[in-house]
Amino acid sequence: MNRLDGKVALISGAARGIGAETARLMIEAGAKVAIGDVLDERGRETVRGLGDAAIYLHLDVTSADDWNAAVAAALGRFGGLDILVNNAGMFLGKGLEEASLDEWHRLVAVNLTGVVLGTKSALPALRDRGKDSAHGSAIVNLASVAGLVGSQLDPLYSLTKGGVTLFTKSTALEFARKGYRIRVNSIHPGVIQTDMGEQTFAARARNSGSNDVESARRIALNTHPIGRLGTPNDIAKGIVFLASDDAGFMTGAGLVVDGGLTAQ
Ligand code: NAD
Repeated sequence: MNRLDGKVALISGAARGIGAETARLMIEAGAKVAIGDVLDERGRETVRGLGDAAIYLHLDVTSADDWNAAVAAALGRFGGLDILVNNAGMFLGKGLEEASLDEWHRLVAVNLTGVVLGTKSALPALRDRGKDSAHGSAIVNLASVAGLVGSQLDPLYSLTKGGVTLFTKSTALEFARKGYRIRVNSIHPGVIQTDMGEQTFAARARNSGSNDVESARRIALNTHPIGRLGTPNDIAKGIVFLASDDAGFMTGAGLVVDGGLTAQ
C-alpha cells in the first residue's frame, strides 16, 4: 500500500513541518524527492538527514523563475517528475479590520500565487510522466479546515485556503477534460503541531488580550473531538496516499484529516 517506487516528487516549503515529514515518508515509500523552500539552511539540514534520495533547492513559491529553475533541477537530477506537493504556506492570525493591505497581498502571493505558479511550472513534466504511468501523475495541494468552513478569527487565511480547495477541483476538471493524466487532490488538516501551529496559538493568545499561549493551545485542543492535536506525520501519511496509485480513482477530492474538527 501507498508505495511510490520509481516516482519523483517536488515538495514546496519542505524545509520543516508537514513538508519535511512528507519528504521523509515519500522516500521511505521508494520515491526521490526535491525539497524547495526559502529557509535554505534548514532545508539543507533536512536533506542531510534524508540521504541521496533528496535534494534541496532554493524556491520562493512567489517567483515564476524560482519554480521553473526548481522543476528543471528536479528533472536534471532525477529524470522526471511524477508528484507535486504545493505545501508552502503562511498564516495570518488577524481579523479583517486588523490586517493591512500589504499583509493580504503577501498572504495571497504565498498561499495562492505560489500554488498557481507551482501547478503551471510543473504541468509539462507531470503531463509527460502521466502518459506512461498506471494511474497518472499527482498534485496534492495543502488546503486546510479553514478552506472548508468559515473562520471567525482568520478570515483572510481562510479565503486563501478556500481558493486552494476550489482551484484543486477546477484544475482536476481542466486536466481531465484535456486528457492529461494528472490527478489533483487537496488535503485539509486540523490544527497540526508545527511552527505554523504555534503561530496560531500565539495569535489567539494575542487577540484575546491575555497572551496566554497555553490556554490558547487548550482551547484549540478542545475543538478536536479525537482528543489531541495533529502531528506532521498524520498529514504526511494522507499526502503519500493521495500521491500514490492507491488513490488512482481520486481526483478533485479533498481529504479531511482533522480529528473530527469539521464533523461538528
Ligand atoms: P510551517 O510553517 O512549519 O512550514 C511551512 C513552510 O513553508 C516553511 O518551511 C516555510 O519556510 C515555507 N514557506 C513559507 N513561505 C514560503 C515561500 N514564499 N516560498 C517557499 N516556501 C515558503 O507550517 P506547516 O504547518 O508545515 O504548513 C504546511 C502547509 O500546511 C501550509 O500550506 C499550511 O497552510 C497548511 N496547514 C497547516 C496547518 C497547521 O495547523 N500547522 C493546518 C492546516 C493547513
